[in-house]
Amino acid sequence: MADKSFNPFKMAQQQFDGVADLLNLDQATRDLLRNPLREYHFLIPVKMDDGTTKIFQGFRVQHNDARGPCKGGIRFHPQETIDTVKALATWMTWKCAVVDIPLGGGKGGIICDPHHLSAREQEQLCRGWVRQVVRNVGPVADVPAPDVMTNAQHMLWMLDEYEKITGGKYPGFITGKPVGMGGSLGRTEATGYGVIYTLREALKVMGVNIKDTTAAFQGFGNVSQYAVELYQQYGGKAICVSCWDQKDQRSYTFIRKEGIDLKQLLSITDKFGGIDKQKAAELGYQVASGDAWIEQDVDILVPAALENQINAETVHKIAGRVKFIAEGANGPTTPEADTEIKKRGIFVIPDFLCNAGGVTCSYFEQVQCNMNYFWTKEEVLSKLDNIMTNAFHGVYNLAKQKNVYMRDAAYMIAVSRVAEACRMRGWV
Ligand code: NAD
Repeated sequence: MADKSFNPFKMAQQQFDGVADLLNLDQATRDLLRNPLREYHFLIPVKMDDGTTKIFQGFRVQHNDARGPCKGGIRFHPQETIDTVKALATWMTWKCAVVDIPLGGGKGGIICDPHHLSAREQEQLCRGWVRQVVRNVGPVADVPAPDVMTNAQHMLWMLDEYEKITGGKYPGFITGKPVGMGGSLGRTEATGYGVIYTLREALKVMGVNIKDTTAAFQGFGNVSQYAVELYQQYGGKAICVSCWDQKDQRSYTFIRKEGIDLKQLLSITDKFGGIDKQKAAELGYQVASGDAWIEQDVDILVPAALENQINAETVHKIAGRVKFIAEGANGPTTPEADTEIKKRGIFVIPDFLCNAGGVTCSYFEQVQCNMNYFWTKEEVLSKLDNIMTNAFHGVYNLAKQKNVYMRDAAYMIAVSRVAEACRMRGWV
């Protein structure tokens, strides 16, 4: 978001145009899907603690709802732009479609920095956001969720405002709520586990026994921690993770060739996924530079930290042994790196398929809330496994049948599902 020269919405449109060509989409469908259906821009006045009134700018973008209510997070960020929100809403449409859940794509945001706002001011901001879009969102229209710098507390303030205005109890209005307050069991694990469900299937179709594999993980936050957990449960050997060091303002990789001890590493990790490097060294971990994760002699790479990590400069560092990349993060691989990865025949599980476990479990949260009946964790995770496994095989079968790259196959499935829904509704 900080990089002014990079326009994510232009990138989302370029990606779409490429798939539209592959699918030979008609002009009307292209015009409809390369832009959001609706965009709301509004102002939110907040009475600040010092007695002044500050005006904040808010957004909600509904990219497409042909397959169901829009779904997507609300981001608080000082550099939030409408183009970022539009891009993220577009990607949400494709993500929901590729895993075949009956939801469309949405995203929202407020230009603000919560670090400089008191809890009371943040509450006013949340309530103000809901007041401005209450007519256009709701459990059967558009369901928000947390994103960068928003959390369960923000979601509960928003839910409370929505229920006050509409005069009922509608916990399905918003997801990302705490368990016991309408949240779903399994949501914490969902994205990381989803990554490994798809990886497990990729190894299976390629005839590789997961127990014979080793993997390097980038990041050690929510996604990576649970991905490592399940990968190890399946018998894989995770030899490194990496993280950002707030004090040193740089990243490090923590390597243990005989396999990392997840419990032990978690005990020296803060809530932001930062590992104490002193303690890690004492425990015998090799503390290497931040990009060492990509150079490891492993079978599998799992980028699960940031976008733009496998790029024209770093792609050549990938060891010859690497045969699989499971993209836990959003947008970790650039188009230039994709070209090289394709050439080398590395099997890629593309981000919007690989990390769709999160939104799938948010969908489960919404379903449970709408029924006011909650499932056990086992039930949630087994439903999640089903959806991720089916989605993986749908994409893999198409990739094989048409001899296309996994990312292209995932896009082809997602875009054609949405295009078909628009056509069947008589929109185009
Ligand atoms: P998180 O904030 O919990 O963890 C991020 C981790 O990455 C931390 O360990 C942090 O130290 C590390 N990190 C940050 N900068 C780094 C750097 N330069 N080098 C190495 N490590 C670095 O975030 P998360 O929820 O685990 O999300 C990770 C990625 O997955 C993001 O791209 C996010 O958009 C994506 N994602 C998350 C979810 C979800 O449900 N959490 C769902 C879909 C996609």
